[in-house]
Amino acid sequence: MGSTKQTRLERNRQINRWQLWRPFLFYTVALCCLHVAILNSVAPSLPAAVALVAGGLLSWGLVEYVVHRWVLHRVPRAVGFNLPGNLTHLKHHENPLRLERLTVQLNESLPICLVYFLLAWAISGSWQSATYVFTGLIAGYFFYEYLDFQAHHGTSQSPLARYFRRYHLLHHHYDASVRYGVTSPLFDYLFGTFELEQKNRRATVQLRKGES
Ligand SMILES: [Zn+2]
Ligand SMILES: [Zn+2]
Repeated sequence: MGSTKQTRLERNRQINRWQLWRPFLFYTVALCCLHVAILNSVAPSLPAAVALVAGGLLSWGLVEYVVHRWVLHRVPRAVGFNLPGNLTHLKHHENPLRLERLTVQLNESLPICLVYFLLAWAISGSWQSATYVFTGLIAGYFFYEYLDFQAHHGTSQSPLARYFRRYHLLHHHYDASVRYGVTSPLFDYLFGTFELEQKNRRATVQLRKGES
């Protein structure tokens, strides 16, 4: 067990920290600027703000599921244009321990975030409300990055990390057409990709071995 941890820590030292943290830095600064601007304008009430953030957080689960299932797992074209993230994610499946591109890069997430923010603004009619919804979305996105990192490279043994690590590794090592959710099982339940085949249920217990 000790030698496994040593190997993992040594491997993690090779991670490109700037590439890893750049998206977090960018969205944190962007959100801080938006919230400072809200302080100088007419802000929603506290209950409304909490409800908007909760709605944004819930919407992250849907965004995560839809993008993961129908964009990242598309069969790529041999030549020509492929959707952002498609090839990167398939490489992640080929080798989940790869140290390149550990986090979703800005060129992949920014188009989605811009469309999402503008849509939230158009629906709510207020950029302040859109900012709170967007804050919920980004909180879900950051949680996603944390859990994906924990699943493949992290050492946390908290019940939360263990539950989602096992959940995500079922997607990787058992069947890539189930368990598309990373931060929540909700949309796997709703879209019918939660259940594993009964006959193979026992085999899933050994999943951690594939990640050592
Ligand atoms: Zn993964
Ligand atoms: Zn996948």
